[in-house]
Amino acid sequence: MEVATTAVWTDCLEIIKENVDEQSFNTWFKPIVPVRNDGDVLTIQVPSQFFYEWLEENYVPVLKKAVRTVLGENGRLEYSVVVDSGNQMSPPVTVNYPNGNGIKKNTPTNGTSHHSEYSPFAYKALDPRTVNSRLNPNYLFDNFVEGDCNRLARSAGVAVAKKPGTTSFNPLMLYGGVGVGKTHLVQAIGNEIKKNMPDKVVLYVDQNDFTNQFLNALQNLKMQEFQNFYLQVDLLILDDVQFLAGREKTQEIFFNIFNQLHQSGKQIIMTSDCPPRDLKGFQERLLSRFKWGLTADLQEPDFETKLAIINNKMQSDGIEIPTEVAEYLAYSVDTNLRDMEGVLNSLLFHATLLKRNIDLDLAKEVLKNIIKEIQSDVSVDYIQKTVADYFKVEMEQMKGKVKKREIVIPRQTAMYFCKRYTQLTLALIGENFGGRDHSTVIHALESVEDMMKVDPNFKNSVDELTKKFKSRMSA
Ligand code: ADP
Ligand code: MG
Repeated sequence: MEVATTAVWTDCLEIIKENVDEQSFNTWFKPIVPVRNDGDVLTIQVPSQFFYEWLEENYVPVLKKAVRTVLGENGRLEYSVVVDSGNQMSPPVTVNYPNGNGIKKNTPTNGTSHHSEYSPFAYKALDPRTVNSRLNPNYLFDNFVEGDCNRLARSAGVAVAKKPGTTSFNPLMLYGGVGVGKTHLVQAIGNEIKKNMPDKVVLYVDQNDFTNQFLNALQNLKMQEFQNFYLQVDLLILDDVQFLAGREKTQEIFFNIFNQLHQSGKQIIMTSDCPPRDLKGFQERLLSRFKWGLTADLQEPDFETKLAIINNKMQSDGIEIPTEVAEYLAYSVDTNLRDMEGVLNSLLFHATLLKRNIDLDLAKEVLKNIIKEIQSDVSVDYIQKTVADYFKVEMEQMKGKVKKREIVIPRQTAMYFCKRYTQLTLALIGENFGGRDHSTVIHALESVEDMMKVDPNFKNSVDELTKKFKSRMSA
């Protein structure tokens, strides 16, 4: 990128900054990368199709103003949209806008679809008011707290809820780890659509539902009925698609349903625990379908968001919770939000039924019990012992104060495995190593990661230990 291009964009940003609020500026303008400037035309790169559409829908006046001020009256903007950010094997793919025909919507041509194979002849029409959508009415946008970790996914969700099937976010694919709010968000979209458009057939299925119905239909020769049912759905939400991995037949049928729904402008929403390109055991053609629309991730919530979620939940249950308790929980529960839910419910239980005050002591007590429950087979004790044996040091030394390298490395390695294989918070891991604090644990995790990069022998040891723990977990 030339210096001139950067300078032009920096000038534009100055103007934009004066015209939008800080939040919008950070979300929508900071991630933009200027790529080219040919006199009148400035080309900027944006991270996704969604991003591009969002800019076009909301910020055209300010963008125009900025570009014309900096480049002159004929100044124009072109976009380079990253549609797939690629990986080590395949480079990123971008699409440029506007192209010859103005804005190209990403309606893919459908060379491989099996359109006529399953045309629904005779079917019982579904009545949208009586179809069981399988939605949980408690999962709403209203109680879905927005944070940096989920902003893009949430915005996409809101857009889809307003205009299901008619935005280019079709399918909408949300991905992220356990408990980051995928199910909550997709159900919120479903509930919102049902509320505002009661004549739409909305259906939420998790993968279990889908596979069971499918197997059932297969056994009873009711395949046609199964498909006809799905083809009448206006909004199909398939939660946790990663479980379709390796199920050829189920994927096949889903592929057909997907194509037909998509072709007739019906909205499809899916979630998965990893980005589509990392999904294993999927037919390539199905994976490529997943990328047609918008893929957005949800990340682990940051401290602020966790705090807001805690306060939100407590408020809706009519409970006052002291700030220090909320902060303690936001800081300590670093496994996932589902565990947080458990902790909060337990707190509520103690407060309402046992009439106890919610204070720091109670919070600590509750946390201790819950954390014990969510521990896996691989306990701290087991990890310490295994690592101590492996490096031939004494178990006591794991918790002791000795700072010699021969002891520190096994100790740090054990901490590293505790973080990986137990659900313990950093603070509690530290506690289990002779009362060390969470920053010591963070330091240990970093040291181990660094050593693995530079020391192949050490990396090898970690790999061997990993195998031990893995085999124990699958035993
Ligand atoms: P996932 O499907 O990603 O595993 P869930 O949607 O089941 O996660 O979320 C786990 C719990 O955390 C649920 O109780 C959900 O309501 C809550 N939760 C997650 N994200 C948020 C959020 N942003 N605001 C409020 N609650 C949330
Ligand atoms: Mg879920």
